[in-house]
Amino acid sequence: MKAVTFQDIGSVAVLETPEPEILESTDAIVRVTRCAICGSDLHLYHGDIPMMPGDTCGHEFTGIIEDTGSSTTLKRGQRVVGTFHTACGACNACQRGEYHLCSSGAVFGYGPIYGSLNGSQAEFARVPHADVNLRLIPDDLADEAALFTGDILTTAFGAVKNAKVGVGSSVAIIGCGPVGIMAIQSALALGATRVYAIDLLEERLHLASSLGAVTINGSSTDPVGQILALTNGEGVDAVIEAVGGPRTILLAFEMVRPGGHIAAVGITAAQTFEYPLMQSLMKDVTFRIGLANIHRDIDQTLELVRTGKIDPTIVISHRMALSDAAEGYKLFDSRVASKVILIP
Ligand code: NAD
Ligand code: ZN
Repeated sequence: MKAVTFQDIGSVAVLETPEPEILESTDAIVRVTRCAICGSDLHLYHGDIPMMPGDTCGHEFTGIIEDTGSSTTLKRGQRVVGTFHTACGACNACQRGEYHLCSSGAVFGYGPIYGSLNGSQAEFARVPHADVNLRLIPDDLADEAALFTGDILTTAFGAVKNAKVGVGSSVAIIGCGPVGIMAIQSALALGATRVYAIDLLEERLHLASSLGAVTINGSSTDPVGQILALTNGEGVDAVIEAVGGPRTILLAFEMVRPGGHIAAVGITAAQTFEYPLMQSLMKDVTFRIGLANIHRDIDQTLELVRTGKIDPTIVISHRMALSDAAEGYKLFDSRVASKVILIP
């Protein structure tokens, strides 16, 4: 089968690789119908997170059940969306509902640190614990509409929930890439009344503005000063950091109001940063960073998409054949593309 394989920093190639097989009775093989390139794939592409040359990339996918192990309840032919990280459903963490902390969890196509599980930018993918890590796509939902519930939409939605956003909240979103755009839609769906969107690229802010966010270009203005001016000097109830790295996390501490919440979802390769202890103490800030818990929220996001309250497809700028993935990575990495869908 054809698969997008990591070659070296800045280089992926579509190669012939062996088709996956059922290894455990809980596995399913999915014939991939749509897969996406995620901002997280760029960390591998840049060499910030280690990936073995030749391994298959990708973790955002929909597909059709091709084959199942003897103990799954899924049936050949069913349409499914995969969660980007896997969980066993049985360990202590899974029993607590903390699926992202599963003791045997992995991330598809994300290298040895994340469990060495083959990726899904391919014609077929093997999904372990398929009953736990796949969701049926409702009949009235296209694959493309469901695709991002397995990652960027539910990541953003979960962060917005973790930041306690509710009816009447004011929220600042740092970074208007696909995850940030999903965070804007999620915040509005949960009742936020004032959403401020910060990015460095005017075209990304344009999309944020079309959703109803007040936009701030961080390359030409001081985003903290702007947020404080727009909130009578108080700051916002919640900040969603959707870039990655210490710089934007520290901005979040500056713009959150006393008693407010910060949820950081940007993946960072930095090991440490100087935690603003005094500022946090004085403001009593709640700061949270972690991988998304897709399983906790995916049923809710699928329903928000199905009922038209969120349209995740608005971020898609390019649809390409899987065989053109190398070009897709280049377009996404250079920010010419806001989101690339690969079609096997
Ligand atoms: P992206 O790279 O497409 O978007 C990042 C955006 O941030 C870009 O629009 C960029 O212009 C903007 N930006 C960069 N520096 C900025 C600054 N100083 N101020 C304001 N904006 C700035 O990525 P994405 O797909 O939207 O993902 C965002 C982050 O979320 C990535 O780090 C990704 O790895 C991460 N992510 C995390 C999880 C998780 O489970 N925690 C899941 C999915 C994605
Ligand atoms: Zn991702």
